[in-house]
Amino acid sequence: MRKYILNKVDKILSKVNEPEDGSVSLKEFLIEYDYATKYLSRLLKVRGMTMYMLLFKQAYFEEGNRKISMKLSELGQNLLSDLGKPMSHDVVKRGINDLVKIGIVEKNPSRPGQINKYTVKLPSELRQVQEFIENDRNSSEEVYDDSRDDYYTDKAKRLEILKRDEYKCFYCLCDLQQDNFYLDHIFPRSNGGHNWKTNLVTACRDCNTRKNADDAESFLIGNYRKGLFLQSEFLQQKKELDRLRSEYEEIKQRHANKELS
Ligand SMILES: [Zn+2]
Repeated sequence: MRKYILNKVDKILSKVNEPEDGSVSLKEFLIEYDYATKYLSRLLKVRGMTMYMLLFKQAYFEEGNRKISMKLSELGQNLLSDLGKPMSHDVVKRGINDLVKIGIVEKNPSRPGQINKYTVKLPSELRQVQEFIENDRNSSEEVYDDSRDDYYTDKAKRLEILKRDEYKCFYCLCDLQQDNFYLDHIFPRSNGGHNWKTNLVTACRDCNTRKNADDAESFLIGNYRKGLFLQSEFLQQKKELDRLRSEYEEIKQRHANKELS
């Protein structure tokens, strides 16, 4: 949900400049709303959570100011009890105290009889929420990405390529043994090709020697014209080569974008 709305907002914001006005931006508002429902809700009971959402709305949605003045009775009007009556002063007061206790709302001193002033903090200002965000970020990074691992020099990983290519030379389809095979760089290393699995295919000794820095596709076509395999086999190899090349480009691109941002 968050990405869906944020993507839309990004599209809209790319066309207009949002004026700076001291409060949160539209995008920040949405992100903080997301943090509130996702993380702050873990720290508060239902009553406190409902009250925070009311104050959050008042401060950032309606007034554009984190400092708001509000009568407890006003809050009570918005929070109807099970019986459909405004919540009692005591219940509202206890709810506010829950918020003050965890530090998401600060009560600003006021004289007796004056309207209460509150500073409504953003969920991301709370240390506990920051920890939740950090934890989620770390656990999503734990999904291991092997797309840029070295599959050329690591012995176990070389065998994975052999397995992927079904124990056959990628270029002539002759059978290969675990103790007698080569790996060929689709984009030659001399041209900056990486040791990633998407840039490596198996090769027999003969093909490895003959190919050198030739283009992988032309070399495959050459072998096909020599009659080393059928047309259907050629088409299959060509398809696999295209898949590897486009995946390889995609990873390169993704990585380049990461470094830019
Ligand atoms: Zn071969």
